[in-house]
Amino acid sequence: PVLLEMRSITKTFPGVKALADVNLVVREGEIHAICGENGAGKSTLMKVLSGVYPYGDYSGEIRYRGEEARFGDIRASENSGIVIIHQELALIPGMSITENIFLGNEPRKGVAIDWKTAQRRALELMKLVGLKEDPDTLIKDIGVGKQQLIEIAKAFAKDVKLLILDEPTAALNESDSQQLLDLLREFKTQGITSIIISHKLNEIEAIADSITILRDGKTIETLDVKADGVNEDRIVRGMVGRDMSSR
Ligand code: ADP
Ligand code: MG
Ligand code: MG
Repeated sequence: PVLLEMRSITKTFPGVKALADVNLVVREGEIHAICGENGAGKSTLMKVLSGVYPYGDYSGEIRYRGEEARFGDIRASENSGIVIIHQELALIPGMSITENIFLGNEPRKGVAIDWKTAQRRALELMKLVGLKEDPDTLIKDIGVGKQQLIEIAKAFAKDVKLLILDEPTAALNESDSQQLLDLLREFKTQGITSIIISHKLNEIEAIADSITILRDGKTIETLDVKADGVNEDRIVRGMVGRDMSSR
């Protein structure tokens, strides 16, 4: 079944049409890659979905879990289980892993949780993503690969159903990238749907069930990896709009 449908999404910034009639269909339980060159509109599309822009500040329709959705702010999309990890990580360097995991995830309506409980929960979430650090370690003392995993742990402190990662491996080395991709596969077996923005064809090939290609703010095509395979020429041609085989 379809989990998410974005139809005819148009988003402008002063002087820039970032998205023009973009369509995206994501099936429940799949790993869906969004590809496209820098400036294609990938991040903007995911920001529209996750309530980054003020209410109504785009046109088009979003259907999520069979219902029309228009998230007025980030918390509203998170309450529906949509959690985005932005390309610019949002961790606070001078705070510990535990503090960061619960930052913005504080229980609502004044339900206090004590520090011991928070730490126990943080350890569970860290285990889920394969982190063996001391939860009191400060973010500034941790490498970018592990920071990305902490962001994912933080996403799981919420009730995530659709996990969106914006170029998560861009700053990661090979082994950290592998660990992250393995984790996405693991989440898939648990029924979590993921959207991964990437322009690394090798990792898309290794992980994606479907690929949507954006170029200049438009949807070029969506490929079903099982049916279509990962035809790199076709993807690259879609991304850049010209035949690159003669480079
Ligand atoms: P991608 O993630 O595919 O690299 P973006 O979604 O970040 O592309 O950007 C798409 C286009 O929208 C680019 O031309 C970019 O400069 C523009 N853009 C993105 N965010 C803003 C913003 N906040 N203000 C103005 N222009 C923006
Ligand atoms: Mg970019
Ligand atoms: Mg981007």
